[in-house]
Amino acid sequence: MPRPTLAELSRALAAGETSSRELTEAALARIAAGDERLNAFINVCADEALAAAEAADRRRERGEAGPLTGIPIAHKDIFCTAGIATTCGSRMLENFVPPYDATVVQRLADAGVVCVGKTNMDEFAMGSSNETSYYGPVRNPWDVERSPGGSSGGSAAAVAGGLVVAATGTDTGGSIRQPAALCGVTGIKPTYGRVSRWGMIAFASSLDQGGVLALNAEDAAMLLTAMSGFDPRDSTSAEEPVPDYVAALHGELAGRRIGIVREFFDDGLDAGCAAAVREALGVLESQGAELVEVSLPKIGLSVPTYYIVAPAEASSNLSRYDGIRFGYRHPDAATLEELYKLTRKEGFGAEVKRRILTGTYVLSAGYYDAYYLKAQKVRQLIADDFRRAFAEVDLLAGPTVPTPAFRLGEKLDDPVQMYLNDIYTIGANLAGLPAASVPCGFVDGLPVGLQLIAPAFGEALLLNAAHRYQQASDWHHAQPEAG
Ligand code: GLN
Repeated sequence: MPRPTLAELSRALAAGETSSRELTEAALARIAAGDERLNAFINVCADEALAAAEAADRRRERGEAGPLTGIPIAHKDIFCTAGIATTCGSRMLENFVPPYDATVVQRLADAGVVCVGKTNMDEFAMGSSNETSYYGPVRNPWDVERSPGGSSGGSAAAVAGGLVVAATGTDTGGSIRQPAALCGVTGIKPTYGRVSRWGMIAFASSLDQGGVLALNAEDAAMLLTAMSGFDPRDSTSAEEPVPDYVAALHGELAGRRIGIVREFFDDGLDAGCAAAVREALGVLESQGAELVEVSLPKIGLSVPTYYIVAPAEASSNLSRYDGIRFGYRHPDAATLEELYKLTRKEGFGAEVKRRILTGTYVLSAGYYDAYYLKAQKVRQLIADDFRRAFAEVDLLAGPTVPTPAFRLGEKLDDPVQMYLNDIYTIGANLAGLPAASVPCGFVDGLPVGLQLIAPAFGEALLLNAAHRYQQASDWHHAQPEAG
């Protein structure tokens, strides 16, 4: 039996065939039974979820329900949730209970969505394997010896493993798309500024963007429509109107030009992944799209550029964790300086410290011009490459990740190998563009993702193409065996 999608649950609720209470109890039971194996959740909030479910059912009785009212989902533990612990995968925030909801959380709650818990993630969203989490690695439901990807690995594993129908995520360099690809689910990172960053714990503020992991493009469209839009509390939030992404799903692909990014089919791409992606491109072509090859000549510089810009911003953002204002405080420091040192030494893990050190170095007076300023210029060149490509085509396509899911532990001792997992995803973040990953096949029983990238605020076309592809393919229906 294929598991129900969010759209199907929404219809069942509307038809009175089920209640939010029933759906929420079922999700909590699946988490209780299945999460010991996956470790996808840091915190399950059963009481709050059941109260929200009752409220959603009452709202429906009053005739005030919308399409999302009563649907249980999970939030990545980077989104602040009022009264519910929010750790960001770090020891530093182990006991942090935010006094307010992130805008994303608030908007979904306003639509009647029920939050069942907070998903595991790499510490402060720094990582590609979920192994930097203070709360232990997440396991890939397709093979529990393998990584689900990261940093939104808990969200991806929770959806792929059937614990929840959808979950929120964030993507600074690939953290929605890469785990979506490795777990065989659909993930979308919107345009920078489309979704408010208010209450989303900051990693690299000029790159961070919230989005969705779901079973298909239609479900992602339903959630994104509710999450998006201008927020006066986020100064980088865009005043662009929000289209109805669900209504846009059915557009014809005939006449659309899809650019195949030549540089994404490089030596580093696994042959099986390449074959699956090429087959998917053929499906888009059979839907009427015209395929053309395009080049992004500077895209090869995106990983080194990102690993200057992102750590620079992270080193600044993470300076707030000083043991004074909130979060972990070392209990027996004798002086203020010792308090800072011991708190940060014990509150942060190794990868976070590596980023803070790199970021502080590239921003230091002697090296700022050579590294940070240079990286900002290269970032502009990469954005120019995308701008030129979008003068010729409507969408870009290629693989999401170079290989299928790797083994837990395999890349832990080699940060550069880990960083290279995001080689095809980082460009969209540097240029602020919306991008999605959709399941497009398997290699040795492990899922492969097709990446689609659109011009700024092109989410409607992105989801339209993903939906058309899913109408003509079955990969997104595949589900791992329950362990
Ligand atoms: N894997 C990348 C990193 O480690 C991207 C993470 C993200 O998108 N949050 O920084």
